Amino acid sequence: MQDASAPPVTISSLLEKVRSYSPEGAEEMIAGAYRMSHDAHKGQTRRSGEPFVYHPLATADICADLRLDSTTITSALLHDVIEDTEVTKEEISTQFGESVAEIVDGVTKLTRLPSDSVEDTQAESLRKMIVAMSRDVRVIIIKLADRLHNMRTLAYLKRETQLKKATETLEIYAPLAHRLGIYSVKWELEDLAFATLHPRRYEEIKRLVAARRDDRESFINTTGEELKRHLEETSIEADVKGRVKHFYSIYNKMIQRNKEFNEIYDLAGLRVVVDSVRDCYGVLGVIHSTWKPIPGRFKDYIAMPKFNMYQSLHTTVMSNEGKLLEIQIRTSDMETTAEYGIAAHWMYKEGKKQDGIDRLTWLKSMMEWQRETTDATDFMESLKGELIADEVFVFTPKGDVVSLPSGATPIDFAYHVHTEVGHHTIGAKVNGKIVPLDSEIVSGDRIEVLTGKNGAPSRDWLTVVQSGRARNKIRQYFNKADREDNLSLGREKVMALLKKRRGGKVASGVFEEVAGELNHDDADDMFTAVGAGVLSADNVVHRISERLKPPEEEAGKSRSPALTPLPLPEDEGRADTETGVKVVGSSGILTRLARCCTPIPGDEIVGYVSLGRGVAVHDAGCANARALRGRDPDRFVEVEWAMDNGKLFTVELLVEALDRMHLLRDITSTISDAGVSILSARVDTIEDRTALSRFAFRAASAQHVEDIIRKTRSIPDVYDVCRVSRDGTPLER
Ligand code: MN
Repeated sequence: MQDASAPPVTISSLLEKVRSYSPEGAEEMIAGAYRMSHDAHKGQTRRSGEPFVYHPLATADICADLRLDSTTITSALLHDVIEDTEVTKEEISTQFGESVAEIVDGVTKLTRLPSDSVEDTQAESLRKMIVAMSRDVRVIIIKLADRLHNMRTLAYLKRETQLKKATETLEIYAPLAHRLGIYSVKWELEDLAFATLHPRRYEEIKRLVAARRDDRESFINTTGEELKRHLEETSIEADVKGRVKHFYSIYNKMIQRNKEFNEIYDLAGLRVVVDSVRDCYGVLGVIHSTWKPIPGRFKDYIAMPKFNMYQSLHTTVMSNEGKLLEIQIRTSDMETTAEYGIAAHWMYKEGKKQDGIDRLTWLKSMMEWQRETTDATDFMESLKGELIADEVFVFTPKGDVVSLPSGATPIDFAYHVHTEVGHHTIGAKVNGKIVPLDSEIVSGDRIEVLTGKNGAPSRDWLTVVQSGRARNKIRQYFNKADREDNLSLGREKVMALLKKRRGGKVASGVFEEVAGELNHDDADDMFTAVGAGVLSADNVVHRISERLKPPEEEAGKSRSPALTPLPLPEDEGRADTETGVKVVGSSGILTRLARCCTPIPGDEIVGYVSLGRGVAVHDAGCANARALRGRDPDRFVEVEWAMDNGKLFTVELLVEALDRMHLLRDITSTISDAGVSILSARVDTIEDRTALSRFAFRAASAQHVEDIIRKTRSIPDVYDVCRVSRDGTPLER
């Protein structure tokens, strides 16, 4: 950790540090950035009472410790000016170029992220959001340096703020540093946060470490010397050193592995640094022939680098004194990567910059890394997951993080909040500004939905939304709205046909009777079904005629083909037990699946307490259930699907199509291809070459059935497909 008495950073000490590693000669730019920062922050002070400009200077100095390029140093000096002063991104761009302006702008956006609540679930999302928002990885590195300086000077803040910042550091920033492999920053952040959050435990571990330092150092020295002697015999040039353990990592291991301080701390560590990969394996051979390796503890992170590009050989051996000794073996390049992580990518090496740094966006740099190491699939996988991710992370007005598919709009967000919010959306604000509802939202946006009592979805929304949830809810809304249209359309159809056949004079009671016969709640419900095309006007008119005919003529007449139940094998009747449905809040209550609507898992269901026969489980859209509810609302109980037990359920579909050659073949093969076997099928041609086909098959879930319906709908000449109850009534969904 940095000594509190370390001399303060000045622009000349910073320039000197940069000069010591950089041949870039960008002192003009860095000094210019310092002047701009100094002038812009003039009059502002830190909590410590120091001029504000000390903070960007110190942040830039941390970046210089990571030996970063002049673009990063310049951006670090300016990282707070957009947020806290009058200076604009354009001015920065004019004076220092596009990349500096972009990086400063990126850091500013991260600064604006709300940090009110860092709960476990939010921390992961926030980390992802930071990565997703940062097109250039140097934005994150500056943010880490900024946080590191703030943690070093935390003492000046209120205790409450200290705790908040320390928690945030541990939950978000230290893991980010780990992710990027910048271990030097990670460890310091962790130790500073640890000291703030648990001062007593921190002091205790510090005391224990100090008390045992001599023992430990002498053990490391003796074993180190012994190893050096053996290496000299093989003429491998190697640097052997002891390893420092960080306080937080000792504490964390004690907690995680439930171990005593001694067990963690006494595990001494050596590090051997050599020139070539070949020498790494050579050293390993020497070590394993000197001391006995502990089985299962050898790890080859050279052949298989860790996700953050860390490379080393790890082994644990039993020393002559009977103590375990952990040894890391690596090249000096690997040592640099282990300490600086991704920052190493912007470093100067042997007087020259590594390739093509300036143009590197985060993504490109990842690709560079991929080219350099073919085995780093782990690394790429996890970064792809976070980066090219098809997710955006945005905030609710309360500061909660919500993830949506990329390309999502405020409408998706509204439906994510609540269906009713979605349905009543009339506008949206992104970051406080009203935006069109079809605007694409990006990570870090704070979204507020404006609703109105008369707000209603538009069909255009279906082409705009990205989330399945929003799309489904909008569809459902229109299905319902279509019902209203279907009612008038259906009524017109029936009336027109009736007029043609009988002159149209029918008492209204007859409609109600026929509706009941067809298992509809009332005449309106029946007309709606006609309008929706799931019940033919012909069928209704036919039944009305039957009803008005003398009784003797009625005999021998068959029911409308679509409505005649399909013959099903006897054993297809469901057992009264194992229905897969349970009554909410009770156990052991007998349930049975109503035969009229054949609900299957995933369907919305209701339970009706039938006398002496347990609870009958109906589809929520079943006409019978609705009729029963009208009469006996008290006998309804809440039911739910128990865990899926692989049971298959019988489903019936009604397919309406233009009658043509091979229609039946096309439909049956579509259904069979979906992996279900058809139990029973029938096709009838009714009026106007319309074929009504009924199919019964067994499926495991409503989702599976939805899938089959969707596929069947896409068969040429198929008008409509719906699930029907045993008596042919369409089930509303
Ligand atoms: Mn700052």
